[in-house]
Formats: sequence, structure tokens, C-alpha cells
Amino acid sequence: MRATVEFVERKFDEFNRLCFGGRLEPLPVKLSDAKTFMGKVEYKWRTVGGRREKYDFVMRVNTRVDLPEDELEDIILHEMIHYYLGVNRLEDTAPHGKLFLSLMNQINERYGRHITVSRKYSVAQTAQTVGARPRLHIVAVVAMADGRVGVKVIPRVEERILNYYNGMLSWEQVKAIELFLTSDPFFNSFPNSGALKAYIVDKRDIDAHLTDSMRLECDGRTVRVPRD
Ligand SMILES: [Zn+2]
Repeated sequence: MRATVEFVERKFDEFNRLCFGGRLEPLPVKLSDAKTFMGKVEYKWRTVGGRREKYDFVMRVNTRVDLPEDELEDIILHEMIHYYLGVNRLEDTAPHGKLFLSLMNQINERYGRHITVSRKYSVAQTAQTVGARPRLHIVAVVAMADGRVGVKVIPRVEERILNYYNGMLSWEQVKAIELFLTSDPFFNSFPNSGALKAYIVDKRDIDAHLTDSMRLECDGRTVRVPRD
């Protein structure tokens, strides 16, 4: 499913009562089509009594990728933890520092959630645990040195994605690889495996079917879903 403002507000209310003792004030919810994050809490800074504090919080939730409902809920919960720390002026050791992780682990354990921190391979991993419901594909777009473009659907397992990514890049004929997360049914027909090959396609077809995708970041050691 894709987030709606109504859905996010309803879940916010539910999780607020369940996990935060109902102490969070409702905040404006906005939907986003960005390719760079799944959810985000934005705020401004002001100085009150010589102390800097965050205010004017807004929660943005991405609607680009069709996700299982529980995955979307975990994204909302992730952002609610940022919000909770922000309004309570709890300075963390890092964007997902000790405070964030401790609260996240608490909620995961107590309520059987699967909230994760940013920049881990979380969307696909979680999708994998709930089965193939919306078929989320990891798609590698392979730019060949001769100008042709290949495509490969890879299993949603970080290790196999990295194996493919590094294996293919070690070939001289391969110039670059981009990774995408998409639920576009166009990719259902491609064999899903870690085999080190790519199917040559018309670049325009691929572009058309990746308009709805989210780009993954890969440095050869980790695959990351920009989450914020
Ligand atoms: Zn975060």
C-alpha cells in the first residue's frame, strides 16, 4: 500500500497511545514523492532562554514505492521516535544514536515491530519476511562499456545483491551499476537470481518502468535504502 494522510494520522494516533503514552502532540503530515527517503521528520530551530530547540515539526512519508502495510507502519514509528526525541529536547549521540536505538529496540521488543535505523537494507529485508505480497523487486541497471544497457532482477538478500554488484563491476565490459527498488510488474517476467548476467534492453523501456522506483545506495559493502 501507499501512505495517505488519513492512514498516517490514524497510525500516529494509534502508536502514540500504544508506545508513547499518548504524550505526542499531533503534527502536520505531508506525503512525498522523493527518491531519497522513506520518511522524514522536519523541523526548524529557535533559541528559547538561551537554549536552542527544535520546533514546527512536520512528518513526511514517501508514497513512491508500494509497501506492505506493516513496513509502512514501521516507517511511521521510526519517524515518531525522531519526533519524540525532538520535542523532548533529548540530544542524541548521532542521528540514530544511543537514545534512538534504545527506544527503537524497546518498541520492537515490546510490540513485535521491526523498526530499523536508516541506511540499512531494511525495506527489502522486511518485505522479504512478509512474503511476496506486493512483489518488490531489486533491479540492477547495468551500463555496458559499449553503450548498451542491461537489466537484472536480483533476490532481496543483501549478500546476493552485493555479490552481483561486485561481480559484475569486476568485468571490463561493465561500466556502472545502479540499483532500484520497485514494485512495477514489468519486472515480474525477468528471472530473479543472483546469476552474473544482464538482459540487454531498450534504455527507454527501463526508464519508463523505473519512474516509480526508489534508488538504492551501494558502495560495494552495503546496500542502503535512504530512509532518514
Ligand atoms: Zn531516522
